[in-house]
Amino acid sequence: MSKKVYVQDKNGKALDPTTSTRARKLLSKGRAKVVQRELFTIKILDRKKENSYTKDVTLGIDAGYKEVGFSAINEDEELISGVLELRKNISKKLEQKANYRKNRRHRNTRYRQPRFDNRKKSKPKGWLAPSIKHKMDSHIKLVNKLKEILPITKVIIEVAQFNQQKMQNPEVEGVEYQQGKLQGYNVRNYLLKKFNRKCVYCGKKDVPLEVEHIIPKSRGGSNRVDNLTISCHDCNQKKGSQTAKEFGYPSVEKQAKKTLKSTAFMNIVRWKIVDKLDCDYTFGHITKKRRIEQDLEKTHNTDAFIIAGGKEQKRSKVFKVIIQRRNNRSIQTNRKRYGRSIRKQKYPLSPKDLIKYEGEICEVKGMFNYGTWVRMKDSEGNTINSNVKKVELIRYNKGLVFAS
Ligand SMILES: [Zn+2]
Repeated sequence: MSKKVYVQDKNGKALDPTTSTRARKLLSKGRAKVVQRELFTIKILDRKKENSYTKDVTLGIDAGYKEVGFSAINEDEELISGVLELRKNISKKLEQKANYRKNRRHRNTRYRQPRFDNRKKSKPKGWLAPSIKHKMDSHIKLVNKLKEILPITKVIIEVAQFNQQKMQNPEVEGVEYQQGKLQGYNVRNYLLKKFNRKCVYCGKKDVPLEVEHIIPKSRGGSNRVDNLTISCHDCNQKKGSQTAKEFGYPSVEKQAKKTLKSTAFMNIVRWKIVDKLDCDYTFGHITKKRRIEQDLEKTHNTDAFIIAGGKEQKRSKVFKVIIQRRNNRSIQTNRKRYGRSIRKQKYPLSPKDLIKYEGEICEVKGMFNYGTWVRMKDSEGNTINSNVKKVELIRYNKGLVFAS
């Protein structure tokens, strides 16, 4: 299979991708130049988008809390697909940062008046917690990045499992309502996910699990999802007509009252994403139905392929995409004879940047001699040291990083 090369016109607008053979010819004739190497893209210097024909491209996005699937197709083939992994450590890092700051302020400083204008309540309207904002921004960033290399004419995003306007919150509505009226959705699956696929009472994993009422129906417990949990048959029998609290598990009740975090996230941001991208949307139960009809495996990128309307198209290879934070402000503790400090000056290269050294692409391991020398690893894993002046930068390890 020849590798796909993405193409831009002279103004950087995306055209139809081409083959590597054709790209090589264009490059050797000097009619094109390389824009980026990671998602190999060239710019044709004597072409304008207005004067060229491009096929319609639809981009499908499987929005998610942890992972985002994407797939762009035209009528003949899938042009790119993959899974973007979102960062999980943002709130932890911010907490760490706040602690460092707190310590620093306590050490030996003048009295500072407490401030009250930095609380959640005083945040401007539309403010989102950083971890949530990251997730939302990443969806948008991904779409914009793909628009740079493909002539995308339509974006469709899967925003939720169900059309909640039609159905209301799954946490509020009862079992019968959902199982009766909603195709492709199942309270059991929702509960299994929420309670990590194990019995909430004994913790057994690989046994048949049953939907269980926290306050038994015989004592007025409802069929609402916040009164339901997952248990094994034995525990269900043993519990009998006791409530979970009486059975010795008060925490189960609390957990059941909480919405699944990922559901809560999608509730907050899905319409914001649709708004910002000004795109079409669809729902998970439609995707699931089509996936079963077409007999495809369940992965995020396949779901995105279906969301985009993919059917017989030739599939492309799958990219794994991560988001690399741009700066590491962790405290340096390894400085001899000096105290700890946050690094203020940044060296020109950081670990995992890609550089070219003597015609070969290498990965940076680190810098030394006050940022004038670089230590790198070539494709065979050999370590090379060189003056930084002798290397050429290919890509910083930051933002969206595509790996196949
Ligand atoms: Zn059990």
